[in-house]
Amino acid sequence: MDLNTVKELSHLVESDSVRSWQAGDSWLAGGTWLFSEPQPDISKLTDLKGFNWPSLTASAEGLEIGATCAISELHDFIAPHDWIAAPLLKECCRSLLASSKSWNGDNTSAALPAGAMISLTAALEGVCTLWPRHGSPREIPVIDFITGNHQSALAPGELLRSIWIPASALRKYYTLRRFSLTASGRSSVLLVGTLCPDSGRMVLTITAATVKPVQLIFPELPSAKAVHMAINEQVPFDHQFEDPQGSPMHRRHLTYHYAEKILQELAMI
Ligand SMILES: Cc1cc2nc3c(=O)[nH]c(=O)nc-3n(C[C@H](O)[C@H](O)[C@H](O)COP(=O)(O)OP(=O)(O)OC[C@H]3O[C@@H](n4cnc5c(N)ncnc54)[C@H](O)[C@@H]3O)c2cc1C
Repeated sequence: MDLNTVKELSHLVESDSVRSWQAGDSWLAGGTWLFSEPQPDISKLTDLKGFNWPSLTASAEGLEIGATCAISELHDFIAPHDWIAAPLLKECCRSLLASSKSWNGDNTSAALPAGAMISLTAALEGVCTLWPRHGSPREIPVIDFITGNHQSALAPGELLRSIWIPASALRKYYTLRRFSLTASGRSSVLLVGTLCPDSGRMVLTITAATVKPVQLIFPELPSAKAVHMAINEQVPFDHQFEDPQGSPMHRRHLTYHYAEKILQELAMI
């Protein structure tokens, strides 16, 4: 797509780039969304690669994912052996309609319901670090960062710097269920359940089926009926997403179905 309003493409990123951001500026990550449709309000693109942020930084406390980390790098990450939830990284990397181009793209700031990196980082209790235009960096859980279809908590010009995944979440059992119209297509429903081996707490994260991620938390493994009721109470029907990949009714049906399957699988651990 020719972006005929763009007059400037900057690869040079200065330390005060966030403060000097102006209306008409836009951060450029992989460009898969930016270059896929007209952008009449954008006159300058600033390529985030200029920041040279580290992609992945692992420590005993957890994993920091830089906002410019390529999906392929996350896919190939070799985790410590006790991070038993680490295979979820690969599973989510394969849960999107990925061209070689989108494998190099960021997925979280675009805040699309089918964003598999949103599913991953929300399920693993990720926390975003944001660089506001004015003031100190701020933190916000991924589950609250996404506020709707293509809507996030980012203020104009604000930058997503990184997402922190705590090691405690990476040490949980997990299971994933996903529906897509084609084998490697865009997700229309993606649910992840995690189970804490110490406390028995279960977390069910619903994505792609809803306009924004929803997380249901149970202090211990619930009954199938309790999960069904929690979905009814905490996922209003008008939160079900609708697009050519599936109707709200279809997505709701699969949400109940997969939640039950996840529960059965976690109960067998
Ligand atoms: C073939 C193909 C398949 C696709 N499949 C899927 C799919 O299965 N699921 C899905 O959800 N999407 C899919 N998409 C859409 C696209 O890949 C996503 O929207 C992706 O998130 C865009 O990432 P990007 O790095 O290319 O972002 P860009 O297009 O560079 O940026 C997207 C937006 O986010 C902003 N932004 C980027 N990084 C930051 C940051 N660090 N801080 C603040 N703002 C930032 C940009 O300014 C822009 O507004 C697909 C696209 C293509 C072309």
